[in-house]
Amino acid sequence: MKNILIVGGGIAGLTIAKLLHDQGHNIKLIEKQPKWQISGTGLYLPSNGVVALDKLGLGNIAREKGFIISSRHIMNAKSEMILDLDLEKIWGREKPCLGIKRNTLHEILFNQISNLDILPNTTINSLNTNTDFVNVELSNGAKEKYDLVIGADGLHSKTRKLILGDISIRKVTAQVCRFMIKKPKNINAWSLYISSAGQFLIIPTDNNWAYCYVNRKAKGFKTFSKNEYMDPFKKFASPIPEILTNWSPDNAYWNDLEELDNIPVMGNGRVVLIGDAAHAMPPFMAQGGALALEDALVLANSLKNYEWSTIASSFSKNRINRIDWTRIRNQKREKLSKLPYWIAKLGLKAVGEKNWTEDYKPLSKTPDW
Ligand SMILES: Cc1cc2nc3c(=O)[nH]c(=O)nc-3n(C[C@H](O)[C@H](O)[C@H](O)COP(=O)(O)OP(=O)(O)OC[C@H]3O[C@@H](n4cnc5c(N)ncnc54)[C@H](O)[C@@H]3O)c2cc1C
Repeated sequence: MKNILIVGGGIAGLTIAKLLHDQGHNIKLIEKQPKWQISGTGLYLPSNGVVALDKLGLGNIAREKGFIISSRHIMNAKSEMILDLDLEKIWGREKPCLGIKRNTLHEILFNQISNLDILPNTTINSLNTNTDFVNVELSNGAKEKYDLVIGADGLHSKTRKLILGDISIRKVTAQVCRFMIKKPKNINAWSLYISSAGQFLIIPTDNNWAYCYVNRKAKGFKTFSKNEYMDPFKKFASPIPEILTNWSPDNAYWNDLEELDNIPVMGNGRVVLIGDAAHAMPPFMAQGGALALEDALVLANSLKNYEWSTIASSFSKNRINRIDWTRIRNQKREKLSKLPYWIAKLGLKAVGEKNWTEDYKPLSKTPDW
């Protein structure tokens, strides 16, 4: 039995905590928030994320509590179909993609580890890794010694900063808006409405709720008045004007999209970074959640097979191809999202299905876990 510290209780941290507890290790999880607070929106989990949940034994409950997404519809502002993607064809298998509320997914993961040593309101102040162990000082003053430290503390990871210094973060898009709505009856697919003004995406997250993700098209990192942000979408076809009747900027989550620079080795020695702490990217391929789940599964397996003193590099070698592929394809999708609307529309009709199939193809292969 080894002593392991996990920093951060998001998708990556909760998943690795469950897996390493199941392997019989002694786990402490620290979380900087005083209370478990999960953004109240939703998540689109592509098929490789559902395969990872199946591997964890949590796929069925996620299917029950989430919403199975079989197709992606890309439409114009009048709701005329530009592209209808059959996801079974894209992924080359029956395993579905899911829409799910973020807090539902977290609850499913959290329920697996509620008996563990979890410290809220705590972060890591310093760490020092050597061949045999990692010395850590926590924000509560405790000085402790671990066999392994896992940084699962997201895009602005403190663990990463302590072990690798400052890694640059690229600003991608300002002011993406997200919120939950009652699911419109006729929305049963991943449904994206596009125009020259921007994108309005609706994803069912269960039979009653849906998640909206709205992005105004802008040159550079421009911001809009929040009160006027939705104006162009009010002229879109149903159900968008109805959705916006009671919409308020105060009840929405506003985020910039950012991307972490490539880190060839995700950590150092006995300190390993997983999830967004290692490879945060904007959600053009919606791979953040799936990669976080996969990282945890691959790391848990690597810890059974490799020397722990160099685990950061062995783990990175196992993950690098898949993560690099996703980053490159994600950057390509970012560029496509910035094309003028009329070119994007022609491109989607001509090569949309081919491109999406190519983008996801390597990810449809199950990782080595
Ligand atoms: C606008 C937007 C839309 C997205 N849509 C999707 C989508 O549809 N599908 C998808 O798969 N992904 C999506 N993502 C990406 C996805 O949210 C992330 O990839 C995913 O949440 C990463 O999980 P994580 O556990 O690595 O990190 P996080 O979710 O960031 O969790 C990190 C945890 O660590 C804690 N923490 C942070 N710092 C410290 C510290 N110093 N000490 C202790 N604890 C700390 C945090 O409080 C948090 O609980 C989206 C991202 C954005 C910004």
